[in-house]
Amino acid sequence: MILAVTMNPSVDISYQVDQFKLDDVNRVEHVRKTAGGKGLNVARVIVQMGENVLATGVLGGTIGEYIIQELNKSSIPNTFLKIEKESRNCIAILHEGMQTEILETGPTLSVEEGKAFIDKYEDLLSSVSLVTISGSLPKGLPPDFYCKMVGITQGRGVPVILDTSGEALKQVLLHDEKPFAIKPNTTELSQLLGTDVNNDTNSIQQALKHAMFRGIEWIIVSMGSEGAFVRHLADDYRVTIPKIDVINPVGSGDATVAGFAVAMQREKSTETLLKTAMVTGMLNAMEAGTGSINMKKFDQYFDLVKVEKID
Ligand code: ATP
Repeated sequence: MILAVTMNPSVDISYQVDQFKLDDVNRVEHVRKTAGGKGLNVARVIVQMGENVLATGVLGGTIGEYIIQELNKSSIPNTFLKIEKESRNCIAILHEGMQTEILETGPTLSVEEGKAFIDKYEDLLSSVSLVTISGSLPKGLPPDFYCKMVGITQGRGVPVILDTSGEALKQVLLHDEKPFAIKPNTTELSQLLGTDVNNDTNSIQQALKHAMFRGIEWIIVSMGSEGAFVRHLADDYRVTIPKIDVINPVGSGDATVAGFAVAMQREKSTETLLKTAMVTGMLNAMEAGTGSINMKKFDQYFDLVKVEKID
């Protein structure tokens, strides 16, 4: 089973209005509410791929209860640590072809809640063979919290796929115990290194020379419509994808993580792993819902993805 961790889940609310008026009343007819957060997107796509997953993390209050209800409705098995403070809402206002977002930072956890989560997490590890950790850390937890989780997990022989950014990612990469896999995009790589990294193979290879990437088995640098650059141990690959009709690309990185995790769980070859990860990202971009794919289209796109080893 795959364990999908989300430490700062949310209820994602999208409001569709013809025109967004500042300093005035905006009445909304089209409202969409979903259980959100990157790790929940990963879990949803893993379920849609027919693989066993357990979603975990922390949540609280009535918003937390709503998230659990939504996960149950979508048949996503879950076990979260209940915290005292309320989980967050994230609001996207879709107007005039634009998207204005209002993102709550979310609850602050107490030191005890951080410890209680680690206890729960250690218990869960005995029944899983792969872990995905996605998204930001909630306030109150130390920036090296993911380092601790990676250390505990891999110390038990369970590989971790980590998809986070900023300080939480940097702390992990500066630590000796490296995650099994990471999936940064070029913006995240640029932030991490403080230099401009673009989609060019040379630019990415130059960036990955930094010592902080040493010892990571898989580095998947996703590049939206341009596919991905992938480093597996000493081998580099360029993965190219066909042009598709994009409806909503938000969450495609999470779908890519899910595809990679499922293919890894099924012990697929390098080529199949990379093709699967790209197709699940593309399928997400072709749906209106965030972190959701239509598996019926999987085979049709699989053969159109090209994996080329770079000499
Ligand atoms: P997010 O943070 O929204 O989850 P991300 O930046 O982590 O996204 P992307 O690189 O945008 O991840 O997308 C991951 C994968 O999804 C890509 O490698 C590609 O396979 C697919 N994908 C995303 N956007 C597009 C697009 N516009 N056209 C085709 N495929 C896409």
